[in-house]
Amino acid sequence: MATVEERKAELEARLGELTHRVDAIEDALERPVSEEPEEQAIEMEDDEVRGDLGEAAVREIRMIDAALDRIANGSYGVCSNCGATISGQRLDTLPATPFCSECAAGI
Ligand SMILES: [Zn+2]
Repeated sequence: MATVEERKAELEARLGELTHRVDAIEDALERPVSEEPEEQAIEMEDDEVRGDLGEAAVREIRMIDAALDRIANGSYGVCSNCGATISGQRLDTLPATPFCSECAAGI
């Protein structure tokens, strides 16, 4: 089973990746829209896809931030809902999860 330090390194690496991705998406969204009506339609569709990807990334960033806070205050790996220990296997798959598998299934 991974140590908390290993989880922390993993979460920080993922956070860096996501932050980078959100920055790239924001840059793309800020680009001026083309004057050509046909290109405008294509660009707006692209922007919508990027917006969705950005939202998913921002949600994940928030979860990782919260997980890093829990590592800092020693509550990482404990379910935020019922206080049970979250299994190492589950943390391998979802290192940022605040819930045990039972609570995650019930929420
Ligand atoms: Zn729980």
